Parts: sequence; C-alpha cells; structure tokens
Amino acid sequence: MAFSVYLLCFGLAYASYLADVMEWRAIAGFLIIIPVINVAFYIVFRTGLNRKMPDPSLTSIQMFAGILVTMYGMYYANESRGAMLLVYVMILIFGVYRLNTRRFLSISVFTLLTYGIDIALLHYFRPEKVNFTIEYLQWFVLALVLAAFSVIGGHISSLRQKLGKSLSVIRELSIHDELTGIYNRRHLVELLDYELKRAFRGNYQFSVAMLDIDHFKSVNDTYGHQTGDEVLRTVSKMIRDNLRSADFCGRYGGEEFLLVMTQTDLEGAMLCAERVRASIEQNLFITSGSDFRVTVSLGVAQYQNREDLSTLISRADQALYRAKRWGRNRVMCDQ
Ligand code: GH3
Ligand code: MG
Ligand code: MG
Repeated sequence: MAFSVYLLCFGLAYASYLADVMEWRAIAGFLIIIPVINVAFYIVFRTGLNRKMPDPSLTSIQMFAGILVTMYGMYYANESRGAMLLVYVMILIFGVYRLNTRRFLSISVFTLLTYGIDIALLHYFRPEKVNFTIEYLQWFVLALVLAAFSVIGGHISSLRQKLGKSLSVIRELSIHDELTGIYNRRHLVELLDYELKRAFRGNYQFSVAMLDIDHFKSVNDTYGHQTGDEVLRTVSKMIRDNLRSADFCGRYGGEEFLLVMTQTDLEGAMLCAERVRASIEQNLFITSGSDFRVTVSLGVAQYQNREDLSTLISRADQALYRAKRWGRNRVMCDQ
C-alpha cells in the first residue's frame, strides 16, 4: 500500500513538473529516493528484521520516511506546495490503524518541523520565489488539521484495539464450555469436521471415545450440585491430562465428554481410553462430609471409510451403552 502511494505521489509530482510548477531536480531526486526507500523496507520485511521491532508493521518508521520524502518534494514544489500538503494527510491515514494520540502528535510535530525547515531553507536560498505570508498561513492550517487528525486518529486506533481484544474474548467464549473450560460441543463438531475431511482424502485414521460419568445423578443427589460441578471440572482436567497434545476433547453433553484421538487406530484409542478410565477411578474427591470416587464408562469407535459424523458418534454411543450394560467403569468398542 505504501509503495502504491509513493507511485501515486510520483505521478502527481511528474504532472506538476509537466505543468511547470515543479522543478526537474525534484523529479530526478524522487527517481532515486523512492526506489531506495522501498527496496530498503522490502528487504527489512522479507528478512523478518521487522519482527524484532516493538511494532512489526513499522508504521511510524514508514510514516517518518514518507514525511521526509514529502519534505524534499515540498522544497521544489513552488506554486503546487499548497496542494502537496494533502500528501501529509495521506501519510497520516496509514497511522489510523496503529498509532495512539501521543504517537500521532509526535508525528504531527515532526511534520510541522519538516515544513518549517522547508520554509527556512526557502528563506535562505531562494526568497525571491516564495510568498511567505501564504506559507505561514499554510503551516498554521496544517497544524490545525494535524491536531484534529491526532485526536480523531488516536481515537479510531484505540477503538480498533478494543475491538480486536473483544473479538478474541468472544471467540474464546464461543468455543469453550463455561463450566469446565474445555471445548464445547459446537467447536468439537467443527474440529471433527476437519478430521473427517482429512480422513476422507485417505491414508489418515482417527478414533473417538464417548465418555459418560457413572451414576452421576447420585453424586448430585448425595453431595449437591456444586460438588457435582467440581467433579465435572476435575474429570475434564483428567481427560485433558491423559491425552496427547495433538488429541482434543470437549464436553458433549451434561456429564458426557467426547475424546478425539488423531492419527490413532482402534487399538491405540482403547489403550488411551483405558488410561483415562483408570486415572479417574483412582482419584479421590474430598468433601467436608465423606470422601468418594467416581468411575466412568467409555465407548470407542475408529473412523471408518467415508462415514459421516453422526454415524461415527452413534457407533461410539452404542459402545458406551454396552459398557454401561456390562456393569459400567469400563471401556468397550463397537466390535
Ligand atoms: P449412568 O451411569 O447411566 O450414566 O447414570 P447417570 O446418573 O450418570 O445418568 P443420568 O443421565 O441419569 O444423569 C446425568 C446427570 O447429570 C443428571 C444431571 O442432573 C447431571 N448433570 C448434567 N449436567 C450437569 C451440570 O452441569 N452440573 C451438575 N452438577 N450436574 C449435571
Ligand atoms: Mg449421560
Ligand atoms: Mg452418566
């Protein structure tokens, strides 16, 4: 974007030259300065040097460079100097996304300083070509515009930052289950769709396990809902701790969790499910009354060629149902 603005400005300068209001020296200088600056920035971005800076977009540095180039053009602009002031505004627009009011103000001061230096140089080297009353007036108007720009621009970029933060909070909330902090059902299904697509293309296998806490209703009835909630939190943490980092899990329903084991066949998934079951069985829940343990049952299914998500989940469900029927606290598959 910055490069295209340079090109545009060069076009304007060239038009001014053709209209006989800009000197050829300015055009010749632009032909050297613009490529040098753009190649320098290009190299910095390509080599990743910018990532070591506090602001990797290098917004302010690019703006300072643009302002210096404009200062150079302004010196040679003659009658078109007033029109060229608009180029400063164009440069400041680039800061709208990044800079706060203080940063904007410092760039505005820098801008006014460069224009001031231009006026001083013109005074010294060619006073006969310049109407200084107009230049001072222009300088003053520019100062007002830049002040307004700094306040409004700073406001816009702070809005943008707040929006960015809010969006990431909303995204976090929308994919996680409020009680347990693990993925909710909606996000789980989204991720599973992705797994399905990978498996659909062949040569990739994965398995799922549906986990249900045994006799959870009686935990609620005996120890109260708050303890029930605590059990849900602990169980979800234990599931997470027993999965590899490439695997994922989520809360599928009230006290039901779905585990997804990527790149895992049925045998591997059974082992993993058994590890989860055993670790939950060993955990002692401590309450002010009596301490207790909970057990879980799991139904495991490996993704089969080209089946859809609901078929896969219902096979895991059936396996879970069998595990319940066979006495709970066990892992079963649907085969
Ligand atoms: P089974 O071994 O057959 O699975 O028996 P169960 O008692 O676990 O099964 P059931 O489906 O009858 O009961 C599930 C219970 O889970 C009932 C419901 O009150 C409880 N439950 C669901 N969501 C929550 C929750 O967010 N917090 C708490 N504390 N309890 C919940
Ligand atoms: Mg249930
Ligand atoms: Mg249950």
